[in-house]
Amino acid sequence: MLPRIDHLELVAPLYQEFAKKLQLLPFNGDVNCQYSARLAVATDNSIYQQLPQLVLHPKSKEDIQLITSLANEDKFKVIKFSARGGGTGTNGQSLTPGIVVDLSKYMNRILEINIEENWVKVEAGVIKDQLNDYLRPHGFFFSPDLSTSNRATIGGMINTDASGQGSLVYGKTSNHVLGLESVLANGELFSTAPMSIDAAEELAKQENTHGNIVKQVLSSCQGNRELILNKFPRLNRFLTGYDLENVLNKELTQLDLSRLITGSEGSLAFVCEAKLNLTPILKAKTLINIKYDSFDSALRHSPTLVAAKATSVETIDSTVLNLAKKDIIWNSVSDLITDVQNQVMDGINIVEYNGTSIEDLAEQVSQLTQRLDKDIENDSGVIGYQVTTDLASINKLYAMRKKAVGLLGNTKGSQKPLAFAEDTAVPPENLADYIVEFRELLDGYGLDYGMFGHVDAGVLHVRPALDMCDPEQEKLLREISDKVVTLTAKYGGLMWGEHGKGYRSEYSPEFFGEQLFSELRKIKTVFDPLNKMNPGKICTPIDSNESLVSVDDTKRGYFDRQIPVNVKDSFKSVLDCNGNGLCFNYDADSPMCPSSKITRDRRHSPKGRAGLMREWLRLLEYKGVDVLALEKNIHGWSVKKLLEQTVNKVRNHFIEENKGDFSHEVMTAMSGCLACKACASQCPIKVDVPDFRSRFVNLYHTRYFRPLKDHLVANVEILAPLMAKAPKLVNSVLESTLYDKFSSATIGYVNTPLLSVPTLKENIDRAVVQGKYEKFNLTALQQLSAEERQKYLLIVQDPFTSFYDAKTVEAMMALAHKLGFKPVLLPFKPNGKAQHVKGFLARFAKTAQNTANFLNELHQLNIPMVGVDGSLVLCYRDEYKQVLKDKRGKFQVLLAHEWLLGQVKDKPLLTIDLNETKYKLFAHCTEKTMLPNSEKQWVTIFTEFGLSLDIVAVGCCGMAGTYGHEKVNLENSKGLFELSWQQKLNALDEPQVLVTGFSCRSQVKRFTDIKAKHPIAALLSCLS
Ligand SMILES: Cc1cc2nc3c(=O)[nH]c(=O)nc-3n(C[C@H](O)[C@H](O)[C@H](O)COP(=O)(O)OP(=O)(O)OC[C@H]3O[C@@H](n4cnc5c(N)ncnc54)[C@H](O)[C@@H]3O)c2cc1C
Ligand code: SF4
Ligand code: SF4
Repeated sequence: MLPRIDHLELVAPLYQEFAKKLQLLPFNGDVNCQYSARLAVATDNSIYQQLPQLVLHPKSKEDIQLITSLANEDKFKVIKFSARGGGTGTNGQSLTPGIVVDLSKYMNRILEINIEENWVKVEAGVIKDQLNDYLRPHGFFFSPDLSTSNRATIGGMINTDASGQGSLVYGKTSNHVLGLESVLANGELFSTAPMSIDAAEELAKQENTHGNIVKQVLSSCQGNRELILNKFPRLNRFLTGYDLENVLNKELTQLDLSRLITGSEGSLAFVCEAKLNLTPILKAKTLINIKYDSFDSALRHSPTLVAAKATSVETIDSTVLNLAKKDIIWNSVSDLITDVQNQVMDGINIVEYNGTSIEDLAEQVSQLTQRLDKDIENDSGVIGYQVTTDLASINKLYAMRKKAVGLLGNTKGSQKPLAFAEDTAVPPENLADYIVEFRELLDGYGLDYGMFGHVDAGVLHVRPALDMCDPEQEKLLREISDKVVTLTAKYGGLMWGEHGKGYRSEYSPEFFGEQLFSELRKIKTVFDPLNKMNPGKICTPIDSNESLVSVDDTKRGYFDRQIPVNVKDSFKSVLDCNGNGLCFNYDADSPMCPSSKITRDRRHSPKGRAGLMREWLRLLEYKGVDVLALEKNIHGWSVKKLLEQTVNKVRNHFIEENKGDFSHEVMTAMSGCLACKACASQCPIKVDVPDFRSRFVNLYHTRYFRPLKDHLVANVEILAPLMAKAPKLVNSVLESTLYDKFSSATIGYVNTPLLSVPTLKENIDRAVVQGKYEKFNLTALQQLSAEERQKYLLIVQDPFTSFYDAKTVEAMMALAHKLGFKPVLLPFKPNGKAQHVKGFLARFAKTAQNTANFLNELHQLNIPMVGVDGSLVLCYRDEYKQVLKDKRGKFQVLLAHEWLLGQVKDKPLLTIDLNETKYKLFAHCTEKTMLPNSEKQWVTIFTEFGLSLDIVAVGCCGMAGTYGHEKVNLENSKGLFELSWQQKLNALDEPQVLVTGFSCRSQVKRFTDIKAKHPIAALLSCLS
């Protein structure tokens, strides 16, 4: 039996008291002391791990004032904070042993826009893509870019002075901040915007915080101007944190304190609101993908491209390209970066031109392509190029480029590409030579690495692969880090060209020099004399004895290495998650993690769940539990065992101490997962939550009872066929309000779907009697000749469509019949998916083996087998393989579109009742994430039939099997539907709506008046 797990890091009494007092104030945000909540923000994308004491989610700047004012009471003066946005920092910027103040959960409103004056005002938790989606209809965008744009917040961007592709033209975040509304460590509101030097000098005379800050900044920046100009490198990625140079304008007539806060990594103030300038969207773009025989050729060629006045030049090496080729993302770009015949493509540069029309750009593009043609002839390393002007294709290419860092993490073995020297910037003309030396350095240690970056700005992204579970490699990391600092300085560059300092703050004195570094400390002192704001980052107050954070500080590897190697291997993806946060994707139309989207709770994301699982495994080891042995022992059954387990579970239910069991917190996070499997394919590391979640749930219930609804769900494949014996009677009960109330109150199950009447069996039996179809008879099928078998099609049943949506299965049979096949409905065999989802793993293994045996026998017939529901058919390919391994056998069940695709190709079309309906496809998330071409293939099929079909981009519908029917999930399920599906459906007429998933069709029926059809039903209706 699983033991109770007590976590070891209790909240310190002072912080407990702080939390209690805060809750007595009119604080509207959330105060969370739970271990799981603290763990969820103990990591970012860096190698570090630091557990905070509390997590606060304020709802307004007034809430932040309450937090900081309370922390100024004598008793709480030692309390420290770190602001947090998307938590995508690569150097531990938002990690703290104090309190994490997360502004991303609630403070994410767009407050005001003024088109005439070209600005927008937002709260700090707004996500960069959220802002740009809002601005797009107005013809504007917020131009500083970053790869994490779908999850990084404006507050985070400001505090790291983020920038990325196109920075030569668009600059850094600080170039676009018009004003900030912040809260200081002492609780005062602090507004910043450019002011004249006269006004600043006047303000400096005031004896208050604002006056003291202005006085110090003037003194530090005016007095040391020459030194600053000499010290700060003339680079596009200039030296920030704090930006002593640009706080004054060039003419020295203006002071802008916002420029000091940008890049300060939360060490000066909480940024609550920002007024940002807007950039008009240029309608036309042309992208030229230039292919090279080596990465070195690509780098050496890049100055030519910059000189050709490109808006941006990005580079990618072969390691990253090859990783992208293995990822789902490649499907979207494969025809935009094709291989060159008889050549090895070992690097590409992506050149972008922007303008008001394609014609405007034609001249520049033509000049460059003529040059490229010559370069190809001259064997200069250029081996080919492709030009694209289609905006959708261009966006796909950038999406691939943006995923590159994440992809780097997806490597085999225990050495993982790590962020610690990954954003160096050198003058672009030095880049190629610098990289030669950088490579020599890494090659000297025999390390693997991939490289890509913004060559126009001289910024290189490189993540050498090391194993932080190995203390020796941890030492090596420090050694390499120091050497990169020296190398970068040698080439006149910066260690932190893009991602900020964080735990690399110890190198600050080296880059700023002693004198300017002490000016930074004086500035820190006037903002935050008690060193409460993200202490240890950038610098400490001038008189403080507290130290800076260090590259050698505690890393995630310290915790991970406490988990035994065989457990790590068994729970591989749990360990492999590198925290890049792609699973926090804000885009409602992306399938990536619906539970994260709807809850905005980091625990309810793949990253959150993987992090909790890691800690759970670590604590189990601490308790001396062999988790793999425990899993094995669950299998097997005896009356004695059952009795013992029941007695234990009753006891565990009533023991008071069990209430604090950490497993409950893990269980809560796992219960919120919809098992949609988007993470398993969309995450660059392929973190498969449903896999480890079912293993966890299985183990959890060795200690605690399962809820009744889990038993109900797991037995749905036994119950449905039984209920279908008297469907009308059962439906009359199910549809009564009284039953719904009863079921909701007792089982926790709502809106139970109704059985199909007449049943599938009745209709098919009738058709068999009428001679339309043949009844399943294995012996008869075995006796058919190979040629005869070619005319047959076996229809695999699943519990949902067969019993609740019989018309769809019938449509599949009828369609096959009309296409000249003899469809045979196979007897119903449980699929087991529901058992897997609910963690009944032993039962699932049994179900899966029985069904696999049956399907393998049929496989011998060499007759195609087709199923209609994506999530269940794909369970045969995925979960069956995971659980049964070799015992799964080789049977294959196709989805309707996979089979149809083979039929429409090279075959004369049937007579079609052509209609004008513009069909719209809403595909099931599991289907489109596991089979990334499925939507396109449906379009091909419809086109072959002469029908029009468009793909509708939607996220999760919120149903996901039985998730949406569980009372506890009802609100989230509805919220998810409204987030993405509702609006899209509102714009359509019922006949247009084609939905591939049974769950999704049920959800559409539940929340709209639309009765959505499966695409096969639409095809059938068009066949004359
Ligand atoms: C895969 C990957 C790719 C990346 N690519 C880029 C890139 O192209 N360009 C780039 O610039 N960066 C990049 N980064 C780094 C990171 O995404 C940026 O630094 C981003 O700006 C951080 O935003 P965030 O909301 O996640 O902030 P967090 O990580 O939460 O915080 C970052 C820092 O800002 C502070 N902070 C956050 N919000 C506030 C606030 N409201 N008030 C005060 N302080 C605050 C935090 O204390 C912390 O010091 C990348 C990171 C990853 C993982
Ligand atoms: S689960 Fe995947 S996408 Fe999410 S943080 Fe981990 S590695 Fe990144
Ligand atoms: S299965 Fe779906 S809901 Fe669950 S963690 Fe993965 S993406 Fe999120």
